[in-house]
Amino acid sequence: MNNLKQILIYSMALTISCKEPIQKTGESADGFDYLAEQFADLRILRYQVPGFDSLNLNQKKLVYYLSQAALCGRDIVFDQNGKYNLAIRRTLENIYETYSGDRETEDFSNFMVYLKRIWFSNGIYHHYSADKFVPDFSEGYFNSLIENSDKSELPLKHGQSPEDLMHELIPVIFDPGVLPKKVCQDQNKDIVAGSAVNFYEGVSQPQVESFYNEMKNPQDPQPVSYGLNSKIMMKDGMIREVVWKMDGMYGEAIEQILFWLDKAQTVTETAGQAATIQKLIEYYKTGNLSAWDEYNILWVKDQKSLVDFINGFIETYDDPLGLKATWESVVNFRNNEATRRTEILSNHAQWFEDNSPVDDQFKKKEVKGVTAKVITVVQLGGECYPAAPLGINLPNADWIRKDYGSKSVTIENITYAYDQANLKTGFLEEFAADKEEIELARKYGFRAYNINIDLHECLGHGSGQMKPGVASDALKNYHAPVEETRADLFALYYIMDPIMEELGLLPTQDAAKAEYNRYIRNGLITQLVRILPGKDIEQAHMRNRQLIARWCLEKGRENNVIELISRAGKTFCRINDYDRLRLLFGELLREVQRIKSEGDYESAKKLVESYGVKVDKYLHEEVLSRYQKLNLSPYSGFINPELIPVEEEGEILDVEIRYPVDYAAQMMHYSRNYSFLPSYN
Ligand code: ZN
Repeated sequence: MNNLKQILIYSMALTISCKEPIQKTGESADGFDYLAEQFADLRILRYQVPGFDSLNLNQKKLVYYLSQAALCGRDIVFDQNGKYNLAIRRTLENIYETYSGDRETEDFSNFMVYLKRIWFSNGIYHHYSADKFVPDFSEGYFNSLIENSDKSELPLKHGQSPEDLMHELIPVIFDPGVLPKKVCQDQNKDIVAGSAVNFYEGVSQPQVESFYNEMKNPQDPQPVSYGLNSKIMMKDGMIREVVWKMDGMYGEAIEQILFWLDKAQTVTETAGQAATIQKLIEYYKTGNLSAWDEYNILWVKDQKSLVDFINGFIETYDDPLGLKATWESVVNFRNNEATRRTEILSNHAQWFEDNSPVDDQFKKKEVKGVTAKVITVVQLGGECYPAAPLGINLPNADWIRKDYGSKSVTIENITYAYDQANLKTGFLEEFAADKEEIELARKYGFRAYNINIDLHECLGHGSGQMKPGVASDALKNYHAPVEETRADLFALYYIMDPIMEELGLLPTQDAAKAEYNRYIRNGLITQLVRILPGKDIEQAHMRNRQLIARWCLEKGRENNVIELISRAGKTFCRINDYDRLRLLFGELLREVQRIKSEGDYESAKKLVESYGVKVDKYLHEEVLSRYQKLNLSPYSGFINPELIPVEEEGEILDVEIRYPVDYAAQMMHYSRNYSFLPSYN
């Protein structure tokens, strides 16, 4: 649950105090072109991999093999995100490759935007809001595209004609009322039946709930993650669980992943890493969830290896019931220098736990193995591509976290790329309350923001404990926003603590002020740029950020802790009392930890629904109009570097890294070379 995805966009302070002059055309400090292109509400960025050349040959091979494995699961995510996604993607890619008509028209350009958006979202639902997006061209134009493309390459089912295919796909593509949401969160509806995500078929929410409730044993202190790697279907009047494994569903892609994991096995750095990969192979072969837990324990324990990776069905954000996991992969290696920073935090984890404002009964008596590191990403795959996480904290199973700890990472080459791409956008200048705020942000923003991520991932998620007997999924659909609220509050509470300077993590309390400014500004105002007019907030992280900011605005009103200012028709927010705000963060943290520890569903619901969901219509309109004038896109994703083995007589002598610039070319390269699943699974 802890995949800190896309926390920042422009809303982070976004500019490091750039001591070096800005050079060359890229408008970045190092001359690299971070921005590749921009369309719809998306920006495509590039990232560099500093330190790759200093890896030894074995490590480079390992990174290469794991990166291949990361690419082989791409189709799985498309299929999980909606059962028509692969057929739609292939139909559109076929047009892209073979259409013989005019490509210089507005219609064709709209077609390209639609295809690029599907690549970006791994399907037809917005990667962040989970709403279906529809094309800006007509059904008639779509038919003419098909007519003038090579029909022999269409993804037809046995006996299906191109007309049948169109008949099937057109409502899914064009009708906003058909399968409108990937994940339905409306509590007045059946959230299983109302979600288009391909985790369930022909079953209702009560059926699924009772299916898993029968499996669960509340007394089991080490429960497996029931339902994590399977689809639930109604077949012949019986509920059946179809497991994602080598000989099961998605087997064609999993076989390819296994091929590369086997190769990786031959070049591991440590015995711990070898055991980890071996266990992952066993899990993919059997689908056995105990093997998955054992793999996670081995993975947490492997601290020595420089190269690391995640690969599997991991995060459950896309399941309305929070059971089933979307496939993802990230390949990386440790940034030793920056890791010293997070080691300082994890070495003091017990101090942070003991001194937090949380009720003593909900504190961990002994914080185990919170390990944190800063990593350099080499490859993003599955749900982590192209929209990348900025930090990761795994594994998700509460009992493993309690008994074995967790690994927490901050992905600095990705955050750095965001930061560089955001220089000179004018966003900060538009939304910051005054010059002082801008200066603080420029001076300390990047550094303080990174510390906030470290605190959130390394300490926040790992803190606290459950009351005995409370199930970890007791908060149901409110689990994710509450969990993120908890981790954010832990970070916010401590970033202003004098210990930050004592430990040498921040140079002055002004840095924490810069982060408070950014956080509140984002939660109250700037994150609204991502919400379409008339919509509520649905995404867990966004709910949690507004929840915190609005709650503090309200509770601090009497003392004018946070002030909303109106100037020339524009709204700004200013923090008048940083110390009081910190106390409010502490107060809310205490309550949110109680809610989680006791599994208090009603309080979770009330808190999230009261502060995190509804938006102020007038403020929203104003913010969107100010944002529009900046001509920016609120979401970003990344083009992966390309790893090229240098071979002689079948032996890899070196692995070279290149940085492609063409987004569509990379997507087509992946679709041609790493697409292993049938169109319907
Ligand atoms: Zn998180």
